Amino acid sequence: LAVPGVRGMSPYQPGKPIEELAREQGLKVEDIVKLASNENPLGPPPSAVKAMAESLAELARYPDGSSFLLKQTLAEKLKVSPEQLTMGNGSNDVLVLLAESFLDAGSSAVYSQYAFVVYPLAVKAVGAEGIAVPALNYGHDLDAMVEAIKENTRIVFLANPNNPTGTSFSEQALLGFLDRVPEDVIVVLDEAYYEYGVGGDLPDGIELLDRYPNLVVTRTFSKAYGLAGARVGYSISNPEVADVLNRLRQPFNLNLPAQFGAVAALQDDAYMQKSIEVNQQGMAFLEQGFSDLGLSWIPSSGNFITVDLRCNAMPVYEGLLSKGVIVRPVANYGMPEHLRISIGLPEENRRCLEALGQVLA
Ligand code: PMP
Repeated sequence: LAVPGVRGMSPYQPGKPIEELAREQGLKVEDIVKLASNENPLGPPPSAVKAMAESLAELARYPDGSSFLLKQTLAEKLKVSPEQLTMGNGSNDVLVLLAESFLDAGSSAVYSQYAFVVYPLAVKAVGAEGIAVPALNYGHDLDAMVEAIKENTRIVFLANPNNPTGTSFSEQALLGFLDRVPEDVIVVLDEAYYEYGVGGDLPDGIELLDRYPNLVVTRTFSKAYGLAGARVGYSISNPEVADVLNRLRQPFNLNLPAQFGAVAALQDDAYMQKSIEVNQQGMAFLEQGFSDLGLSWIPSSGNFITVDLRCNAMPVYEGLLSKGVIVRPVANYGMPEHLRISIGLPEENRRCLEALGQVLA
């Protein structure tokens, strides 16, 4: 009975919940290490928790449908105007709004093989054609992606860094790409993991918005800002695109505690700094551990790393589960021999490597 685009779809597969594994394996919840959903292992910023707790007294009221305060705070931080922002219930919401606003059954969207799975889901849900372009060393082949653009292509989705591969591209490569994309094609640059790359050589999509009116950058509070459970994401675009997205946006898509928490998180520079440090150290530790185990991995610019087991990854995944370690299989991305592991706290990373060593032995 479903409409054609939805018929062949499989649902998004989230990381296995801690409570489910605890029950299955007879383990205590606190003994489980979950490195499966690219969450911030530090927990939420205490300043955001405090603000959210205070907001509960207001729960009888609808949230501010325009997210006025959050947009003002965010606009100041990013040095853009509030009219350029579209808030979403996670950046996932904005990605879906983009597909709903710019695609229909007669159009197509281009994305890379191994790209974040929400792009094909959002594209197919509106009956548009999804064009998956073969990857280059697991990353985006930007030249091939330009060439894949057809007459009816309305959106190209880019993820920098990409999930689940962690691959990224340079500013030079991005500029070369943007210069070649027709002006009537929206380029969605998904920067969900952008904050982890600050100080490195990841391009800042926001700086390019003036030059490319068809560019839409998406970001989130779910990763380095530590608020995945609050569901806050957004896009920055030219105001005309934001106006279109806001026509379709559910009026109260950002709940009241989420808006309070996000405002507080934006002001917590110390938490952000610590998140980046914990990630860098954890990444180096896991890389060393993989190397000691003789495993190779895809170099990552995110808060996760995808390891190549060179064998069916499912039994390894199951073996890790039996030891209370949840990671993410990526067979649904066409990568049956890889596992994606989020960077955790030092002790979590250590337990993950120890379990991996035992399972592979
Ligand atoms: N884009 C990418 C590349 C992601 O990895 C994720 C989270 N897995 C998202 C977008 C969506 O995140 P959220 O909806 O929590 O903002």
